[in-house]
Amino acid sequence: MPSCRESTRLMSEARERGLTAVERVALRVHLLMCSACRNFGKQLHFLGAAMRVYVPGENGDGNEANSDTTSAPPDTDLKTGG
Ligand SMILES: [Zn+2]
Repeated sequence: MPSCRESTRLMSEARERGLTAVERVALRVHLLMCSACRNFGKQLHFLGAAMRVYVPGENGDGNEANSDTTSAPPDTDLKTGG
């Protein structure tokens, strides 16, 4: 039975490297009895989802390509009296 500290560490490590079967079971048992660690797990999940949003390059943002077919004439009417 892992402690709370151990459990939170396992949860964050689970995102980087998988957990062994023993670790998963131990963590699951702890989460069944510990609401604090359950909340931590939810926050970790939320943070993980939020972090993905900020990862640059992953999401192909459709940048509007410059497609100016209508060539507007340069308006040089503005003259400042000086
Ligand atoms: Zn706990």
